[in-house]
Amino acid sequence: MKRPLEDSADYVIVGTGAGGATAARVLSATGASVIMVEEGPSLAPHERSRGLLDAMGESMRDLATVTTSSPAPLPLLLGRCVGGSTAINSGIIWRLPEAVRAAWASMHGMHELLEPAALERVFGTLETELEVSEVSDDVLGGNGLLMKVASDALGLPGRAMRRNAKRCVGNARCLQGCPEGARQSMDSSYIPRALHQGARLHALCRASRVVLDGTRATCVQGETLDPVTRAVTGRFEMHARRAVIVAASAIYTPLLLWRSGLRRGVGDDYQAHPGAAVVGRFDRQVGMGFGATQAYEVPLPERGVKLESIALPPELLATRLPGAGEEWQRDLRRLDYFAQFCAVVRMGAHGSVRPGLWGGPKVRYEPLPDDLRRLKESVALLVRMMFAAGAVEVYPGVASVPERMTHPEQAELIVADHVRRNDFHLMASHHFATAKVGLDPAHSALSPELQVRGVSGLYVMDASALPTNLGVNPQHTIMAVAWRAAERLANMQRPSLRAA
Ligand SMILES: Cc1cc2nc3c(=O)[nH]c(=O)nc-3n(C[C@H](O)[C@H](O)[C@H](O)COP(=O)(O)OP(=O)(O)OC[C@H]3O[C@@H](n4cnc5c(N)ncnc54)[C@H](O)[C@@H]3O)c2cc1C
Ligand code: SF4
Repeated sequence: MKRPLEDSADYVIVGTGAGGATAARVLSATGASVIMVEEGPSLAPHERSRGLLDAMGESMRDLATVTTSSPAPLPLLLGRCVGGSTAINSGIIWRLPEAVRAAWASMHGMHELLEPAALERVFGTLETELEVSEVSDDVLGGNGLLMKVASDALGLPGRAMRRNAKRCVGNARCLQGCPEGARQSMDSSYIPRALHQGARLHALCRASRVVLDGTRATCVQGETLDPVTRAVTGRFEMHARRAVIVAASAIYTPLLLWRSGLRRGVGDDYQAHPGAAVVGRFDRQVGMGFGATQAYEVPLPERGVKLESIALPPELLATRLPGAGEEWQRDLRRLDYFAQFCAVVRMGAHGSVRPGLWGGPKVRYEPLPDDLRRLKESVALLVRMMFAAGAVEVYPGVASVPERMTHPEQAELIVADHVRRNDFHLMASHHFATAKVGLDPAHSALSPELQVRGVSGLYVMDASALPTNLGVNPQHTIMAVAWRAAERLANMQRPSLRAA
């Protein structure tokens, strides 16, 4: 039998997304040796496919077919490539809201990790290193501009987004991976930096379990994968002298922990920010194909909702158009006349993640009545915004109301009692809390230092560790929490060392 691929280092990190890559960047800067293990491929910007399906096949997990197992399945979007979900995200940057920080510090024991001055320092460093800036007028694009017009007209607190893409040239392709290398996703920023600092990357390596020696994590085992077919080609063993860090996302980290026999509090409290989108048709060209993929936003924290402009590639936009036959073809001929806005809801629902069929997850999650109420109100508001921006026709994407609306008053139909959750095409790309930090050992998989309870040398540093959802785009918070935890780990093991 073929010998397994073997390597060893001070730290073995599983997953190279927001959490894993940040941990690698911090730990490798201390002089420690670091191995990164990633299931997906490593793709340079110029290697990314231009076609939508090819690009999604390369970088998105299972071509975006991971869903919840409810009667109306909720698609769960995740990256599977070096850079993780950051490689295919829109680059929107938000600091952790103070109210959420305070709750995590006081109720979940994170006061040390989230100490305000330390957090301020880390957010500042992240923003400098990841080139965070406000979307400039020249790449606001037609879609973003229309949301600004709507927001101004309705007196909403709109603003240009802050993104980690100062050099964005606005080709509206973020969700397929930035072909310009302009967006500072982890594959373009912290992974190259960690490699430069001596870290090693094993792409196309899928971890199947963390090996324990007694109560100490010592090794990660898994399978190597074929770059084209993704079939298993062999096995690997990565030995960790100091610690194993799991950062495989809030959907896949709990699966890895379960397979390693670690189940207490794991996968029990899945939370998300599901969203829905509304399309508007205008009597003049919008030009959704130009501009930052996401450029303008209206945060409404008091309602637990965030409204965002979001450009779609033409292949996906076509699937959002109602009608059939000649009617649909007529809309197809004027694809450049459409705009799209979405609403992202901080839902109160709690679900679960467990191992499912063929190695995939079984995710249970169902929005609560109050989540549905806020969803309806925000989709109705999006319809009114489209009209306020000058749309001649709006497609709300809600099954039980007219598929084409021509007057803003029709938005009221969406909040009617007969409109149900199953009428909405929801989607979620922000996942949380499936191996969360907490004070109560019975209900939290991790200690406040992000260590898996009862196991030394095993940490979780990704979105799973966050105690709750947060109401804003999460990557910046995930990076900051991973940074603080990695820094603490480095300082604990080498007290004289300050993580750079
Ligand atoms: C389409 C999309 C758009 C988004 N837009 C934004 C945005 O604009 N701003 C924002 O703040 N957030 C955005 N997000 C969310 C953000 O990207 C995620 O919250 C964040 O990347 C999660 O970080 P993570 O470290 O938990 O996991 P991920 O970044 O998902 O990384 C996990 C990595 O682990 C790997 N992995 C999983 N299992 C294994 C295994 N067994 N072995 C080896 N490797 C494994 C995966 O392949 C993946 O690369 C978006 C997400 C998506 C999907
Ligand atoms: S809009 Fe285009 S250039 Fe700008 S960050 Fe996204 S993919 Fe890159």
